[in-house]
Amino acid sequence: MKDKKINELIGKCFTKAQSSKRKCFVEGCNNNAINSHLLQKNGTLSLLAEKQHVWQTSYDKFPKGNYTIKEVGVNNSLTFKGFCNLHDTQIFKSIESGTINFDEYKNLLLLSYRALLKEYRDKETMNDCFRLILKQVNDLKSKSSFEAMITANQYMMWDLEYDMACINEDLSTESRVFHFEVLALPKLEVCCSACFSLVSIADSLKITESGYIKTEPIPAVILNLIPEANETKLILGYNKISEKYLLDPISEFRNLRDDELLKKVSDFIIRSVEIWICSNTFYQEKIYPRKEKIITLLNHFVLQGQFSKEKIDLNLFK
Ligand SMILES: [Zn+2]
Repeated sequence: MKDKKINELIGKCFTKAQSSKRKCFVEGCNNNAINSHLLQKNGTLSLLAEKQHVWQTSYDKFPKGNYTIKEVGVNNSLTFKGFCNLHDTQIFKSIESGTINFDEYKNLLLLSYRALLKEYRDKETMNDCFRLILKQVNDLKSKSSFEAMITANQYMMWDLEYDMACINEDLSTESRVFHFEVLALPKLEVCCSACFSLVSIADSLKITESGYIKTEPIPAVILNLIPEANETKLILGYNKISEKYLLDPISEFRNLRDDELLKKVSDFIIRSVEIWICSNTFYQEKIYPRKEKIITLLNHFVLQGQFSKEKIDLNLFK
């Protein structure tokens, strides 16, 4: 199939997969998922909103991968299809009303839960898109490349399912399977809630005679950046099963000066966080004057992978 035709087909299938209804994540619940905010709308997002608007990054995957930063209404910012109305309200009550208590382990889990679910939903959508494409392509080369992408996504979805099951268990038993670092930063007009890996999927695969097999979960870091009235909370979390990969890189954050910490957070965001939002003031002061460079960096790292050790000569907060 010619490139132009295949791009059109991918674009069409992606739109279809993305707009399809999703079921609530609670097992056995047959209701459709509503659009939930990744972070609290009335406490967190509204702190950044000016005239009910914020700026949000968006990575348009098809037809050609490209980052943009767009102004969006706060009602439509950082949303995904997670739970039905009933379960969303029930599960997230303690982080949806009033000031969030960050000393409560359960609240840190709930913040992480949504980030993992969003990532899972994104992978699920991609795979639905690829399956729709497979029904319409005949040449073997295209077929096998879409099949390989489905398998890679499926591997990542299994790891996310594992973490999601651990959170579910933890919510009822407080078995404290996750480790969290909670740090206070000067108030930043940026927020995000995302998970990503610091290790390449290739490191968790082993070659055998029958092809690749997966040997261990890909260690995921969950990052939440949450502005409050006078400061911003940085929360870094991971499943303790991945401790050997993440103990050092995450505990390193504890002993940094504010300026070093901010550069590290900026690097994480540029390398690994697909969607983040900022206030209009922040956008006008820090983003707009360097917009071209920032977009080039985002486009570069989204393809480069998050594991790149390349230095980034830009600090979003400076
Ligand atoms: Zn439900």
